[in-house]
Amino acid sequence: MASQEANLNVRFDGHVAAAFPLALLESVRAHDRPGEVLEDEDLSISLPRRLGLTGVIETQIFRYEGARKAGRAVPVDEVMSLFRLVMRRPDAEPILRETGQRVARWHFRRAPGLWTRVLHRAPARLGLRSARRIVGRALRNLRLGDSISTHKPFVIRVADCVPAQLDGSGLGCTLVTGLIEEQLLLSTGKPRRVRHTCCLAEGAEHCEWELIEA
Ligand SMILES: [Zn+2]
Repeated sequence: MASQEANLNVRFDGHVAAAFPLALLESVRAHDRPGEVLEDEDLSISLPRRLGLTGVIETQIFRYEGARKAGRAVPVDEVMSLFRLVMRRPDAEPILRETGQRVARWHFRRAPGLWTRVLHRAPARLGLRSARRIVGRALRNLRLGDSISTHKPFVIRVADCVPAQLDGSGLGCTLVTGLIEEQLLLSTGKPRRVRHTCCLAEGAEHCEWELIEA
């Protein structure tokens, strides 16, 4: 844990698509408001939490939705502060995984349906190649890393993985894991799992994800 808290005060330059913070907050909202109400639940206590606390989340979601529709980017620094806030929650892991899945779907939204269907029927190596390429592009666009290399059949290496450095715990990498697994599903048509084999947060030289062979 050599990098523990090393980057807590780092400021991030540039802007990122509003879809990223929107995915973060929508995932928080989805976890704050589960579909079922427990039988002995005291709604006077739990309802404010279910409704996204005091409406702050709803207001922010509304704001980011407006920015997304208008094609307005959001400062990266603002998004990373939000990311850190989510990481403090006890249920950060499922929220970050879902965020990664959401941003992968958003990033893939314009892929032509015909091309995707052909890809799903093609040999797996073609889908894996497509996923490697798109994940690299998505990570760069979302400002989650810039020094990225990919290897066959499916390895993603990020030497400057931003989520790993946000709090030194490596928890933030769950978002990248969710993004990669969702992209594998989108590109190959089959659910596939990856393992986060090494992490900057644990002193490794890079963060690396590798496909777990089914
Ligand atoms: Zn990592």
